Amino acid sequence: MEVAKNEPKTPAYFFYLQHPPIPQRNSALSTVKSDSSTLTPDSIKERLKLVKYPGFSRDIVSFGLVKTATWVDGTASVMLALTTNDPDVPAQLRKDVEECLRSMIGVKRVVVEITTQPAPTTGGPADAATSTAPKMIQHAVAIASGKGGVGKSTFAVNLACALAQVLTEAGHPGSVGLLDCDIHGPSVPLMIGLSGHPEIEGEGADAQLIPMEKHGVKVMSMGLLIEENTPVIWRGPMIMKTVQQFVKNVRWGTLKILLIDLPPGTGDAQLSIAQTLKLDGAIIVTTPQIAATQIARKGGLMFQKVNVPILGIAENMSYFLDPAGNKHALFGEGGGETLAKQLETILLGKIPLLPEIRTGSDSGMPITVVNPSGTASNEFQNIARTLLMQLAQK
Ligand code: ADP
Repeated sequence: MEVAKNEPKTPAYFFYLQHPPIPQRNSALSTVKSDSSTLTPDSIKERLKLVKYPGFSRDIVSFGLVKTATWVDGTASVMLALTTNDPDVPAQLRKDVEECLRSMIGVKRVVVEITTQPAPTTGGPADAATSTAPKMIQHAVAIASGKGGVGKSTFAVNLACALAQVLTEAGHPGSVGLLDCDIHGPSVPLMIGLSGHPEIEGEGADAQLIPMEKHGVKVMSMGLLIEENTPVIWRGPMIMKTVQQFVKNVRWGTLKILLIDLPPGTGDAQLSIAQTLKLDGAIIVTTPQIAATQIARKGGLMFQKVNVPILGIAENMSYFLDPAGNKHALFGEGGGETLAKQLETILLGKIPLLPEIRTGSDSGMPITVVNPSGTASNEFQNIARTLLMQLAQK
């Protein structure tokens, strides 16, 4: 097949051909025919896309909250499964769902059944209906942030290396994976010191990507699959459609833990990943400043809505440590603690702002590898141990 000029010529393109992007979703009203002869569970679900989760611009279907929708003899029955501590949410949603479905021609009665469970704090099983994590991966943990530039990828890379060190000491080498889903800036390969393309074994739907390995961490990244000049417009649909293959078609082997570096923000890509993978939880990375914590809080709430527990907050750039050992709170203080309280989780640790962290990332030699007994590395190792303890209790 001839490949057009600015299309990627890498294995990702091959993936893309097998799994073309999902067509743009039609608006609910335009696809639902409000005519009783065409009412089906699917058309009811389509209609429910008009119902927004209270306080969010996102609808209850895309949040994965509609468990069943049935239609029998003029009665539309809907079952919602919510995770919330706010009693107003189920009441509001019951009202909104009833109103939304009653306005469909042919619907005489609406029955709304709602089950609620308290919003998770730490621990608690992830319960996304579409979870598909392979069993060989014991735990999958997302690394997320509200804002870009807070050091999420830097944190993910150093935490992965620290986990590899701690697990190797405990007799489990080669049991850490790092999946870089940050499509707009897949910086993990640069930060961990990998280049080139991963090998592919097999063909067609059974093709398997072999993760590349560095500093004891198995790595798969969009950055290893797409050329640097691939237009961003290709990247969005690629990740949306291939994220499931990304995990299923990577030969991770047996892993104790897979970290997933999510794109920053709370958009469709994050939601799609949270709902596709059986995440054991998420870590939210923030700087101490309010501008970052406010957006990070939204990210945290998104995970809670899709039943993914927040395992903790990691505060990055907490203070600048000058050569004399004095701390300077350049981005303010207390943001991580406040965010942890707001999201009813714990503050996992505080990472200092250090020139060595930046230079380590730029040279593919993370600080945890270059200086494993320094202040920042100790903090990463402590976070790694806390995380493993939390996961072991599940
Ligand atoms: P994000 O993934 O949130 O967009 P990055 O991990 O790419 O952020 O980090 C943004 C920039 O900040 C990078 O240049 C990185 O090297 C630098 N950086 C991140 N954390 C630290 C830190 N603790 N100390 C010094 N520089 C840091």
